[in-house]
Amino acid sequence: MRPSPLTTALLAPFLVRRLPAAASGSVLLTFDDGPVRGVTEGVLDRLAEHSARALFFVVGRQVEAAADLARTVVESGHAVGNHSHTHVMARLPVPGAYFSDVRLCSAAVERATGQAPRFFRAPGGRIHPASLAVSRRFGMAHVLWSLDSLDWQCNDPGAAADLGRRLAVEARGGDIVLLHDFSPVVHPLLDQLLPGLTARGFDLSGGLTALDREGPQ
Ligand SMILES: [Zn+2]
Repeated sequence: MRPSPLTTALLAPFLVRRLPAAASGSVLLTFDDGPVRGVTEGVLDRLAEHSARALFFVVGRQVEAAADLARTVVESGHAVGNHSHTHVMARLPVPGAYFSDVRLCSAAVERATGQAPRFFRAPGGRIHPASLAVSRRFGMAHVLWSLDSLDWQCNDPGAAADLGRRLAVEARGGDIVLLHDFSPVVHPLLDQLLPGLTARGFDLSGGLTALDREGPQ
């Protein structure tokens, strides 16, 4: 599923939804809501097999529960982004409380990995004044996506594999793909998606480098 062109145009100055033009031959995979033991490790193995570098939007309290896993993500060449501490889903949160929550996530990531996050993604992709302001306040680029896998709707491995095959066909150069590493169904999905994207000639590591070079909006 892709975001509507109108919202994309209106919010373009504030949000990154696609990779910079220099990375038009790349596809960047992003994984939200981890790290989760028993899931994230399998994601890392599969990414390594395909020399892919991904962006993990972690939840701070998950990082506190699995700090070693967050560190492994970074040591494996991926980036860790801030997805808030408690996955705040309020439609119009109190800005002060929202800022504190996001700050807690950055602190947890820095403690675990030694690096403060440079990227932010609002939980649920919820855009409101607080989520638009917080990334600027903390010097992070606010990164959403251009292709939503809807992987959270899959709860069996066969459906996830079908979805992986479909996404590999649907992906376009420059896409930022939204996935999750909270359920093991992401493994059969990646077993189809990664070879499919590789076969189409996409660069699965350059997108992160290009995004990093751009810096905050
Ligand atoms: Zn999320």
